[in-house]
Amino acid sequence: MPWNERQRAMLRGMGLRVWQPPEVSVPAAAPEPAQRSLQASGASGAAGAPGVPGTTTPAEPPAGAAAGLPRPALPAADAAAHAAVASADWPELRAAVAACRACRLCEGRKQTVFGVGHLQAHWMIVGEAPGAQEDEQGEPFVGAAGQLLDAMLRALDLSRAAQGEAARRVFIANTLKCRPPGNRNPQPDEMARCEPFLVRQIQLVRPRLILAMGRFAVQTLLRTDEPIGRLRGRVHRYQGVPLVVTYHPAYLLRNLPDKARAWEDLCLAADTMERGAGPPG
Ligand code: URA
Repeated sequence: MPWNERQRAMLRGMGLRVWQPPEVSVPAAAPEPAQRSLQASGASGAAGAPGVPGTTTPAEPPAGAAAGLPRPALPAADAAAHAAVASADWPELRAAVAACRACRLCEGRKQTVFGVGHLQAHWMIVGEAPGAQEDEQGEPFVGAAGQLLDAMLRALDLSRAAQGEAARRVFIANTLKCRPPGNRNPQPDEMARCEPFLVRQIQLVRPRLILAMGRFAVQTLLRTDEPIGRLRGRVHRYQGVPLVVTYHPAYLLRNLPDKARAWEDLCLAADTMERGAGPPG
């Protein structure tokens, strides 16, 4: 298959030479853990994405049901806060994130990092957690990993700008809204307390496709601790939305050979989108 201009631009953006990739294989009935529908969890929009090859839409488990990894049980106060977030609009959600003191991460943060991008973006990027620069600036992916992410997005003719054509825009959110000290890994209770914010962001954006970058995004969205290498290369679903798994940009900065695999993942995401991802219907 010869590269088209968009694909060549993407390769250049990622610092890769143009090369002939193997066929991207998308199994006809890919396993899709933790599938829930936007409708089932209260958001408007059609569940499922009819006509997206390589994905299936089996019966949805109840909203919030964990298909794989368990979440720690949280105190009643957290449950009440989560219920409020579940119906929040954008301003209410921003305010709830900014005021959040649900876990220890609030002690060390300079500020919360809500997310950035177009509020109706067709693409949603989910990362891990703010680092030092993000904590400083209040925006996700502004450090070295963010520069790589922006190059990848540019190669797909996408941007994080808040204005413009929704089809060419992304909304970027992290699994955690506060910086873990010393850039340590997110802890399970932190992820559980922060998850409702991400869930609501996804419901409000109603993306047509989600790109989950790195294992913590994947753990939160797909409820699995399977390694990225075993999850990438096929289309999963989150609440009816096609979801593609790929490596975290910070990992790619340290593991250059895997950039080629990330490129394949982006091709899969772009192809899925071109074939008509969903919802909304
Ligand atoms: N890594 C992430 O996952 N998110 C950020 O915002 C920055 C680095």
